[in-house]
Amino acid sequence: MRLQSIELSGFKSCAKKTRLEFSSAITSIVGPNGSGKSNLAESFRFVLGEQSMKSMRGKRGEDMIWNGSPAVPRAGRASVKLVFDNRDRALNLDFDEVSLERVVNRDGNNEYVLNGSPVRLRDITEVLAHANIGASGHHIISQGEADRILSASPRERREMLEDALGLTAYLYKKVDAEKKLEKTAENVREVESLRRELAPHLKFLRAQVKKFEESQKLRDVLAENYLEYLKRESVYLRVSKELLAEESDEPKQEHSAFAGRIAQLRAELAVQQNNITDGELARLEDESRAVALHRSTAVRDLGRIEGELAAAERMHLSVRESIPADEAREFAERVEKESEDIVLLDSEQMKHRVIALTILAKEFLRRIVHPMHEVGTYDTHELLEKKLALEREAEDSQSEESRIADEIAALRADADGEKDASREAERELYMAMSRRSELETAMARLHAREEMLAREESQLKSEIGDAAFLIGREVAGYAEFDVCDEGGSALSDADIADEPRVRQEDRLKKIERMKIRLEESGAGNQSEVLKEHAETSERDEFLAHELADLAASEASLRMLIAELTKTLETRFADGIKKINVEFDSFFKLMFGGGSAGLSIVRELPFRKRTDVDEAVEEGVDVSISIPHKQLKGMHMLSGGERALTSIALIFAMSQVNPPPFLILDETDAALDEANSRRYGDMIGNLARSSQLIVITHNRETMSRAGILYGVTMGRDGVSKLLSVRFEDAVAVAK
Ligand code: ATP
Repeated sequence: MRLQSIELSGFKSCAKKTRLEFSSAITSIVGPNGSGKSNLAESFRFVLGEQSMKSMRGKRGEDMIWNGSPAVPRAGRASVKLVFDNRDRALNLDFDEVSLERVVNRDGNNEYVLNGSPVRLRDITEVLAHANIGASGHHIISQGEADRILSASPRERREMLEDALGLTAYLYKKVDAEKKLEKTAENVREVESLRRELAPHLKFLRAQVKKFEESQKLRDVLAENYLEYLKRESVYLRVSKELLAEESDEPKQEHSAFAGRIAQLRAELAVQQNNITDGELARLEDESRAVALHRSTAVRDLGRIEGELAAAERMHLSVRESIPADEAREFAERVEKESEDIVLLDSEQMKHRVIALTILAKEFLRRIVHPMHEVGTYDTHELLEKKLALEREAEDSQSEESRIADEIAALRADADGEKDASREAERELYMAMSRRSELETAMARLHAREEMLAREESQLKSEIGDAAFLIGREVAGYAEFDVCDEGGSALSDADIADEPRVRQEDRLKKIERMKIRLEESGAGNQSEVLKEHAETSERDEFLAHELADLAASEASLRMLIAELTKTLETRFADGIKKINVEFDSFFKLMFGGGSAGLSIVRELPFRKRTDVDEAVEEGVDVSISIPHKQLKGMHMLSGGERALTSIALIFAMSQVNPPPFLILDETDAALDEANSRRYGDMIGNLARSSQLIVITHNRETMSRAGILYGVTMGRDGVSKLLSVRFEDAVAVAK
């Protein structure tokens, strides 16, 4: 990369457009004091992005703008444009020529333009760092600042050396990585905070979903149980109904057959019973009872009359009449005859026989007693008449009763004959009715079973409804459910129906318990919760994924930082070693002996001095040894010695890692003639690797330049630039 030109407009004393071409390795700028040479050096700082106004002898951006003079009005803006030949692509841009421009306006606003496009300062810095043009400005040595590197702190010195060693790009990368790491850590905290916020809600939703899943499992088990139960129940009911229908058929038919036979038998019996003259018998019995009553009334009255007669007899003598013997014998024979077969008679006949004997006895007694006459108040005659009348009455009634009894006996004998005929029919009727009763009992039992099955069927329907509500439509497929035994073989309908009912009852109880558990689980309709859980989980997973990504990028950033740190340390240490060789060599050249070197020192960062755990920062110390002198510190050096040491170090740095260009503003001011020559030799050497722009009053230095620019300032206060010959320049320098 080569510096082609610089163009200033309105920058400090360069009020008008001023252009310098750098076609030679060494360009020298000469001119009287106050003509504006240093302004030109500062214009390099300005365009390369210098942010410190102080290092450009200003306080604010406005100080960089032509401030006007009585002759030339002040400018509204200052601009400086550098043009590089980038054919070697030292600048990381795919252009052969790269122009870099900075403009500052009076309002302090800065603009950067890279190849005509506005860019950020950072872009400029990065592009330049790639070409070893660092921000520390180690390649621009301002007037009087040659020993800046000596007066800087070890830490600042280290930065300048890092810059000079071309490590700025690594530093930028490291800083960039550290910023990214910080940002990543911030993102991690944010994401973790979001996850923390999400966690309780997610926990709640997870619990809900777990509950729902458990109830789903329960529901599945319930479905399985329900399907088996319903299938078994439906098979049982169907088979049972079929069997019942078969069982019911026979008793029904038999029953209806018996109904016909019973009706027939009843009809037959009715006919037989109608033949028996029940009415006649009843009438005779009524008549018999009336006659008996009449007779007993007559007997009672007779008793009373006889009592009265006995009373009359006690009052009067009665005369007994002797009964002839044959009459008494006749009476005895009749009694004997009447009594002889009495034991063979039935009760009714016996009754008649006793009555007859009684009448006989009474008649005999009446014969042996004298008729009563009037006794006292008794009219014995009347009494006797009444007695006779009553005795006749009783006898008549007795014979009437006997006649009726005979009639009844005859009638009953007829009826008994008929009863024997109907007894068989009655027996058959009884048997038929008994069988019919048995059949009715059996049919009642069958009917009860029928009702039971109907109740079970209605319960099945109700269970199907319940199951459909709890499980859903899949319950409708219970008929297709395969009921298997413990070995997994499908059971036949007959096997299913044969199972003891208690097993189904147990299944139903189990189902009921499950229903209660399902209800207690309270999982209900969880579609909203499931949706929310899915979304929240997705969000949490996304955040977890993001955290993992962040952790990965954190790790890779840490690794990058570690690598960069290592590279920086290694390269820095190597660079310091190389610089030390050159430094010592330049130093010996300048001082005719002695030694100089840099050493890496470690110190705690200023703001963290109390924090012992913090890593220490590395700085760089300078140590020199001047021939024949015993130095106790850098501060003991003379101005010239400091300048020589600084120059030796700057040149050593430039030698190890040559910058594309080096601007030296009167760095040689303090050198004596001998050292000026050595200085001249050194810049001759340096020019092989870097373009040099030297502002000088030194003849020796000027003599090394290929191009000489003379700067003058007229009365208008504006710096003017012109190409001068060496002789003219020497004249100006003097
Ligand atoms: P020396 O050889 O003494 O170091 P020099 O050639 O380096 O001098 P500079 O320091 O570059 O001179 O120029 C200083 C001049 O620039 C001063 O006269 C100053 O007034 C002028 N100057 C500085 N800033 C401005 C500005 N913003 N507007 C106008 N003139 C300015």
